[in-house]
Amino acid sequence: MSTQAQDQKRFEVIIVGGGLVGATAACALAQGGVQVALLDMSAPPRQWPVDSVDLRVSALTKASENILQTLGVWPGMLERGISPYKDMRVWDAKADGELHFDCADTIFNELGHIVENRVTVAALWDKLETLPTVTCVTDAKVSHLSLLPNGRRLLLADGRQLDADLVIAADGRDSSLRAMAGIEVTGWPYKQDGLVATISTENSHQMTAWQRFLDEGPLAFLPLRNGQCSIVWTLSPETAQSYLQLSDQDFLQKLEQASAGILGGMLATSARAAFPLRFQYANQYTESQFALMGDAAHAMHPLAGQGANAGLLDAAALAELVIKT
Ligand SMILES: Cc1cc2nc3c(=O)[nH]c(=O)nc-3n(C[C@H](O)[C@H](O)[C@H](O)COP(=O)(O)OP(=O)(O)OC[C@H]3O[C@@H](n4cnc5c(N)ncnc54)[C@H](O)[C@@H]3O)c2cc1C
Repeated sequence: MSTQAQDQKRFEVIIVGGGLVGATAACALAQGGVQVALLDMSAPPRQWPVDSVDLRVSALTKASENILQTLGVWPGMLERGISPYKDMRVWDAKADGELHFDCADTIFNELGHIVENRVTVAALWDKLETLPTVTCVTDAKVSHLSLLPNGRRLLLADGRQLDADLVIAADGRDSSLRAMAGIEVTGWPYKQDGLVATISTENSHQMTAWQRFLDEGPLAFLPLRNGQCSIVWTLSPETAQSYLQLSDQDFLQKLEQASAGILGGMLATSARAAFPLRFQYANQYTESQFALMGDAAHAMHPLAGQGANAGLLDAAALAELVIKT
């Protein structure tokens, strides 16, 4: 991997956004022999304190595992630490209904894995370093996108100019490349925030993903490798903001009530954050010599844990198509 775009100005593919979707596409394309540049505003972290946990985690499916295994990225994720989940229990606070998914009913040893996003991204970037046809540009702010007779041109804020046969935008839900390409979105706010935190609980999480549906939205406990749980609590924006202001003790008490004591007492919480949730899809996923992937193409509610998984499938499908043509 080369880290500067000084020596080369034209690529077969440029991907803007080196998050888990963009970096997966870059890995797949490069392993197919495509000359690819991966642009991001900054390099992702590759190291962190051993006992810290990223607030952004994803429940990755077996399909996502297959993609990351095929690209040789999975071992790097295992090395950094991921957590299998074997069961999933979903139930309603107001009714008797319950959904129970058990890996024992499948041919697999687990239903999937809970993975900190930074683990996936760091392992992808480690792999990119070993691939000679990738150029990573980590201080890239795109200021202009234009159409050429034979591709696309990107102008960076510092004056650099890069051309490609195809530009792929994987720059997240608020994609500026999508706007530069003139692609509009359809969508609406859910009028809900996703409050996230890392929680120590009295009882073991039993390698189970727990989700209880409450008046304002679902509360999910996702099992982490260190015995803690990552929570995603869907709340009205007002409640989420008020819960961010609570003392740890008061917040843990609310959480214990909301979880109906399923994991016993709530013992400790990390710092908390809340993200506004939005449903959104791009009105078109492609334009001339331009394509969207991941959240730039479609953003969805985290309750089914499918955003990252859908993005990884985008990356695999698009890479396959480019390599074949
Ligand atoms: C609370 C919560 C819980 C979730 N849980 C799950 C789950 O369990 N399972 C699941 O599958 N999904 C989950 N998701 C969704 C998942 O996090 C996203 O779908 C996924 O991270 C999208 O990845 P991405 O690479 O498309 O975008 P991002 O992760 O947003 O990455 C975009 C990248 O583009 C870069 N970038 C942005 N703008 C520019 C620019 N102008 N120039 C250059 N680079 C740029 C950014 O630096 C970043 O690296 C959850 C989301 C939330 C909010």
